[in-house]
Amino acid sequence: TPSAPTHFIRNIIEEDNRTGKWNGRVETRFPPEPNGYLHIGHAKSICLNFGLALEYNGACHLRFDDTNPEKEAQEYVDAIIESVHWLGFDWQEHLYYASDYFDQLYEFAEYLITQDKAYVDSLSADEIRRLRGTLTEAGTNSPYRDRPPSESLDLFRRMRAREFPDGAHVLRAKIDMASPNINMRDPVIYRIRHIRHQRTGDKWCIYPMYDYTHCISDALERITHSLCTLEFEDHRPLYDWILDQLSEKVPCHPQQIEFARLNLTYSVMSKRKLIELVENKLVDGWDDPRMNTLAGLRRRGYTPESIRLFAERIGISKADSWIDMTVLEDCLREDLNENAPRRIAVLNPVLLVIDNFPDDQMETCYAPNHPKKLELGTRELPLTKRLYIDREDFMEVPDKGFFRLAPGAEVRLRYAYIVRCTHLVKDDQGKILEIHCTYDPATKSGTAGAETRKVRGNIHWLSATYAKAVEIRLYDRLFSDAHPDTEGKDFKTSLNPDSRKIIVGYVEPSLLEIQAEQRFQFERHGYFVADLADTKPGKPIFNRTVSLRNTWVK
Ligand code: ATP
Ligand code: MG
Ligand code: MG
Repeated sequence: TPSAPTHFIRNIIEEDNRTGKWNGRVETRFPPEPNGYLHIGHAKSICLNFGLALEYNGACHLRFDDTNPEKEAQEYVDAIIESVHWLGFDWQEHLYYASDYFDQLYEFAEYLITQDKAYVDSLSADEIRRLRGTLTEAGTNSPYRDRPPSESLDLFRRMRAREFPDGAHVLRAKIDMASPNINMRDPVIYRIRHIRHQRTGDKWCIYPMYDYTHCISDALERITHSLCTLEFEDHRPLYDWILDQLSEKVPCHPQQIEFARLNLTYSVMSKRKLIELVENKLVDGWDDPRMNTLAGLRRRGYTPESIRLFAERIGISKADSWIDMTVLEDCLREDLNENAPRRIAVLNPVLLVIDNFPDDQMETCYAPNHPKKLELGTRELPLTKRLYIDREDFMEVPDKGFFRLAPGAEVRLRYAYIVRCTHLVKDDQGKILEIHCTYDPATKSGTAGAETRKVRGNIHWLSATYAKAVEIRLYDRLFSDAHPDTEGKDFKTSLNPDSRKIIVGYVEPSLLEIQAEQRFQFERHGYFVADLADTKPGKPIFNRTVSLRNTWVK
């Protein structure tokens, strides 16, 4: 790729490589919790972590942070694996699960207890919260804080041995209840949960907390640079404290580095909120083409290349900011404009009859598959007496500046002839049924006569005899509000009621034979993809991926 803009994380790696801090090793990880599908925000982190590993000849681990069994499921593990692969990244042998470390995490917890660095607290969750203090007020020691290590160890073993119900005890790190950083006020590191884990089954009824698990997993995997989003900045002292206590036990002490998360307008960016859309059936599942999940973007017609381009373009910084949805859409347009073959579709058909064209004749016209890539060749378009054109390309009383078809006006049928509108046939209600024209046989595109007469309008068409009817799903933004997820507002009230319209349109006959996920530009309409889930052999269903230009007005 042409030199990507550099950023502070790359600078840190360069400096580490210069000083030999990690002996030139660069090992990163992407650590999703399998409690939902990945979204476009995760893509920023994936591209950063896997991208740096590629750039420095290192490795990026895919690690499932699966310590919260009530929210997690194998379906999510599978979907995450598929999405990371789809984006174009590979972890090779480095696929890990935090649950694989449960034995070690437990052993380290016993060690912390024996070192008087952790204790079993028997207060209720409410009491613990109450004694934690506030930003302006120090916390208060639990009455159990000075319990002898031997007693904590005994209780901790009995917690594991299923002797106690949920919530009866927790294990806490013994740090400092007066710390200005609330994360350091004796955080809970283990809790009792009598619940089956999707991988470890019923082996455990105590589960380690995120902060405890995460740093140890990083260290055990010998991660060098542990990249996370800014909300973990004030968890870093805890990350470092835990690894410092375990310095005899773990192979290294990775560096946690925080960067700004992606905030994108017209979207919600948390799995918890995306789940609400799915569970309330406000969308058709996680991969609904309107969802900003990677599975949804894929079905919408986004390419992995466009998402990687987006990640590169938005860059990496330490300052929180908002990215406008058009930035993402423009990355997609750039990619598809370059790579999507052109086809014709008529989405809102009206008949156009060429009165001076022979009744049963078919004449072949040639359309380029790509206007700039002539090596992609041309395809045949059959021209017949009866055609479909898009209703929007005709105005009975044309507005000023409307250069397409109107009574008495001339327009070029793209790749064919110039036609002049002579009269209309309407139904009882005045709706136009047929637009009648005559054509000028001397004006065929690509022939010497084509240039003799200039007309301003140039419209697309399909033969009514040969065109095929297909289902087309016209998608638009899921939210009509740029900031649906704002304090004090239910994001579900900002849904765009016009985010999906299903129509029957006409396409070139060859489009019946395509595969799911093939992408096209339908000339003058936008970019479309054959739906991944619903396309059947001989029966494609098209999704509008994005319009040709940004026309968003709300
Ligand atoms: P969510 O709140 O959507 O569930 P999460 O951070 O809890 O997000 P994880 O599965 O824990 O989800 O995230 C895995 C990785 O992706 C983390 O390192 C996290 O920092 C990163 N990530 C999540 N959301 C974003 C975002 N909007 N921008 C950049 N990185 C993100
Ligand atoms: Mg998380
Ligand atoms: Mg989360």
